[in-house]
Amino acid sequence: TTATALSDLSADELESFLENQRTAYAELQGRGLKLDLTRGKPSVAQLDLCNELLGLPKGHLDAGGTDVRNYGGLSGITELREMFADLLWVETEQVVAGGNSSLTMMHDCLVQLLLHGAPDSPRPWSQEERVRFICPVPGYDRHFTMLASYGIEMLTVPMHEDGPDVAAVRELVKDPAVKGMWIVPTYANPSGSTCSQEVASALASMETAAPDFRIFWDNAYAFHHLTEDEAKSADILTLASGSGHPDRPIMFASTSKITFAGSGVAFLAASKANVDWYLGHQQFASIGPDKVNQLRHAQFFGSAEGVRAHMARHREILAPKFAAVDEALTSALEGRAVATWSKPSGGYFVNLDVLDGTATRVVELAKAAGIALTPAGASFPHGHDPRDRNIRLAPSFPVLDEVRTAMAGVATCVLLAAAETLSGVQG
Ligand code: PMP
Repeated sequence: TTATALSDLSADELESFLENQRTAYAELQGRGLKLDLTRGKPSVAQLDLCNELLGLPKGHLDAGGTDVRNYGGLSGITELREMFADLLWVETEQVVAGGNSSLTMMHDCLVQLLLHGAPDSPRPWSQEERVRFICPVPGYDRHFTMLASYGIEMLTVPMHEDGPDVAAVRELVKDPAVKGMWIVPTYANPSGSTCSQEVASALASMETAAPDFRIFWDNAYAFHHLTEDEAKSADILTLASGSGHPDRPIMFASTSKITFAGSGVAFLAASKANVDWYLGHQQFASIGPDKVNQLRHAQFFGSAEGVRAHMARHREILAPKFAAVDEALTSALEGRAVATWSKPSGGYFVNLDVLDGTATRVVELAKAAGIALTPAGASFPHGHDPRDRNIRLAPSFPVLDEVRTAMAGVATCVLLAAAETLSGVQG
């Protein structure tokens, strides 16, 4: 039996539906839950997959015989760069293995662009009258807060199944103040979509008014498959150099959701000119990265194939949680026409779009019932979702049973908020 769309209920039916949801919500509140779906953190079980790291490295020499305990080696140890060059389809010289956070590398690039500009910049970005960035939405909140902290204007474009809306991007890059764009190309945070080769090719080859336009290609979820149908990230560096814009993309990745989120290794991959530019500034900030941690990672994985095999173990833990989210939402919401949600085949998030104007209310209701969700609007610049409908769900951290409980609760909140709105009742 299919449920009836809420908008098709008569006034009386809607009233009794609202009453039922209020009762269900009161029961939910009475359970005294304390659950957290706010951030895409690996669970304890996932972290435990890597406990062997705590006993590594064996020895203290890298493959080239360098003592990793000492200073030096700004671009990272070669065996780990080779491994991730293989995984990211780039040349080893194009890869820097850095510290524990790719977000820091993105921030460093942005700050250097502001302070110094790139070799192809007419002047440092901070000396421009205004700097604008294209932001596919929904997107990663920390990308947006980073730009906001430097007063960079954010122009949104829709994120589709196959990546950012190319026509919208093409229009915006006619403005020379538009200096760059964000993109999470594989299993995007939070939409789960993957940028197709066609979209990537269009972004790599399009004419931009700014000569120093940069794509911040944040491949945080490149290997984070949830199914056997593994998405292949578009080869942006080759596409860019092939179309005469070799310095346009800067790729970022890390092992934050492969090994330990707080103690992984981050990577930057780009044209040789961009790598030299990055290291040319980085040399004033560091005498070298944590090579002990890099060697530990190289030994733990053994090879690129070792990384892939390790990701399959993450998948075994994560896939049932994503299935539980879909089951809970489907059983409560299917046919009601008050929500749509993504069924991602990778990454860390489910994107839930509720009835327009009710996302804030849903998050508020959930909070009052002990279920913490990412604030409504977080996936938009300045936290402002113009339709107040988008909620990012992060099911990785809680154990499976908690995901089920939390999602059944979220579904109740979605229905209550929708029923309130449709019946014109103030929540
Ligand atoms: N980029 C995206 C899209 C992310 O979702 C995250 C983690 N939530 C990061 C970057 C952070 O990466 P790191 O831990 O390497 O700084």
